[in-house]
Amino acid sequence: MLPDEIIKTFRIKKGKKFQLADIEPGDTCGLDMEKDEAKDLLATGVKRLRDLQERLYAEGRWSVLIVLQAMDAAGKDGAIEHVMSGINPQGCDVTSFKVPGPVELRHDFLWRTVAKLPERGRIGIFNRSYYEEVLVVRVHPDILAGQNLPPELITDDIWKERFEDINTFEKHLERSGTIVIKFFLHVSKDEQKRRFLERADDPEKHWKFSAKDVDERGYWDDYMAAYEDMIRHTATKSAPWHVVPADNKWFTRLVIAATLVERLERLDPQFPKVGEEDLRDMEAARAKLLSEDAAAPKKAKPAR
Ligand code: AMP
Ligand code: MG
Repeated sequence: MLPDEIIKTFRIKKGKKFQLADIEPGDTCGLDMEKDEAKDLLATGVKRLRDLQERLYAEGRWSVLIVLQAMDAAGKDGAIEHVMSGINPQGCDVTSFKVPGPVELRHDFLWRTVAKLPERGRIGIFNRSYYEEVLVVRVHPDILAGQNLPPELITDDIWKERFEDINTFEKHLERSGTIVIKFFLHVSKDEQKRRFLERADDPEKHWKFSAKDVDERGYWDDYMAAYEDMIRHTATKSAPWHVVPADNKWFTRLVIAATLVERLERLDPQFPKVGEEDLRDMEAARAKLLSEDAAAPKKAKPAR
């Protein structure tokens, strides 16, 4: 897998002075890999992830919440598909958060995400998350106006308050045994354009094309400012942001896989130890199973 130094380059634990400009979307840390080489390396990471997930599931104490945020076409869906490909689907849930509906708007902004948090032993992936509440909602004031909040609660402090609420929420998750791992897939405006055009040019990708996404490009600078401010306020030691260069998909996926492996290895979940009594019961049951063969009458060979 990728060396830990590479993972650390993109991990933001203290947001205060963070600048988006410090991380280049096209960065690959000097690595230049053939497609097959990157694939093999990713496969190694995916396999390690699968083993770690099995132990996480068997131990049944900790949960892992992976938060993915990005501009459109930055590669969130592909990263989920390729990085999580080897994971047992029984231990993993992916939730994609879209524009909130009327029921969701009748609740506080965390409500719908709380319902989707991973159970102990499981990995939950949020494809977009409560962070949209300080991103798209911040970039488009009309969305905030449509959230049915009491008007006196909408003040200039609202973003600062939301950051505080999110930090407190993530602290609560940590104290309950949920590891929060956050990724911002940092794509450049040029690369996004290239990928949108690719979607428009390839009939098999037409379904992914959205004219609305193209309109959102018009707010690029506002989004970048919102992302930067979000990371400054919500990157913490226990729930850091990973700002992953996203102009090269192979690199993005390797960084995500390596980050997850590194974090889960630090957690080091263990298969539960079976006690003396259970071991004795298991031995007895095993002997019983074997005695079935001895006791069973031999079947006559079927005639040909
Ligand atoms: P996509 O993930 O591209 O399918 O699109 C989902 C859309 O839902 C994106 O445009 C998001 O910005 C939007 N969305 C997700 N969460 C929220 C939210 N809390 N408020 C408003 N829009 C949201
Ligand atoms: Mg979209």
